[in-house]
Amino acid sequence: MRRDFDVLAGIGATVDGGVSRIALSAADLQARAWLADVIEQEGFTFCDDDAGNLSGVLPCAIPDAPTVLIGSHLDSVPNGGLFDGTIGIVAGLECLRIVRDAGLQLPAALELINFTDDEGAWKSLFGARALVGAVDTAELSDTEFVAALRQVGLDPRTVTHAKRDPRTLKAYLELHIEHGTRLERGDIAIGTVNGIVGRATYEITFYGQAGHSGTTDMYQRRDALRGASAFIVRAHEMIRERFGDGIFNCGDLVVKPGKFNIIPSEVRVTVEVRHVNHDLMAQMESRVFAIARECAASHNLQYHINKVTQMPSADMSEAIMQAIEQACADLTLTSLRMVSYAGHAAQFTSQIVPSGMIFVPSVGGYGHQPSEYTPWGDIVDGANVLLHTVLKVALHN
Ligand SMILES: [Zn+2]
Repeated sequence: MRRDFDVLAGIGATVDGGVSRIALSAADLQARAWLADVIEQEGFTFCDDDAGNLSGVLPCAIPDAPTVLIGSHLDSVPNGGLFDGTIGIVAGLECLRIVRDAGLQLPAALELINFTDDEGAWKSLFGARALVGAVDTAELSDTEFVAALRQVGLDPRTVTHAKRDPRTLKAYLELHIEHGTRLERGDIAIGTVNGIVGRATYEITFYGQAGHSGTTDMYQRRDALRGASAFIVRAHEMIRERFGDGIFNCGDLVVKPGKFNIIPSEVRVTVEVRHVNHDLMAQMESRVFAIARECAASHNLQYHINKVTQMPSADMSEAIMQAIEQACADLTLTSLRMVSYAGHAAQFTSQIVPSGMIFVPSVGGYGHQPSEYTPWGDIVDGANVLLHTVLKVALHN
């Protein structure tokens, strides 16, 4: 497993000590070719689907036995870390090797799967969504994306064929870094993910009236930036006061005409809302919209809301959470149930198959950057929990 990890650390390596393996880029293709080679060398069955997901399968002797999927991703964000996605792939490979070498005859096939574009260089969680039939045909009218798919031999017209029959699947499991500090702060070895937050992104545009900054009366102006600023501050305060587990972020602001001596006539803010509970998410969104309406009215502005993306929240399987916790107990590792505030493939796999995720600590909580770090011993612990969970899930009727 360490050898595999070290090889991957060298594919798309950056000067900062991270990796850039943007989905469908040359570096990503090199990593995928490496995985295909390993699958063949190990004697696992190599499979790929119409969304470019790559799999190595350890077949089951029983005909039509269901499959336990063990997934993650080889792609990264630009100048990302060595651990995100990669540890799930190398640990999954190791699980297949160990089961094979031990001569275990499980009543389920084991399939390691590398999902296409988990990080969303093109379309967020594309491979995982294709697996469950959640790719929107409108996404396949993006000509640049279609060109990238064609370049790796994929036909956009058949992407929907990647959809799996839920009856053939038994479980989905993934080992991943936490991307946070809850495990580190609590000195806990393993996070048992109980849910993944839903995420919605909106563009909210406030319209006012441009004018001379010096000659227009301070009390007569229709300043779009003043209204937008009030909205941003109030929305943050509301989420902090009323939705303790909720997330609100405004990370982008476009001001027009964007001159220091002209009253801003138009401001577009892009905001993101996250919550693990579907109903509370809906409440948060309607409160955010209400604040936008109030701020527009009180500053004499017009406004418009445009939904950009919506990712559903997901619950992990109770049976799998218990299997993970039992595996931790067997290995005398501490564990804690926790919400994932980042999106992962299990957000979608859970729509068709019982799913679970195992988190290992991230030192300092760093993620999506070269300083991302998890000590090797923690990864080994996580891989052991993954293996024991795979065995429990495969053996469970
Ligand atoms: Zn990841």
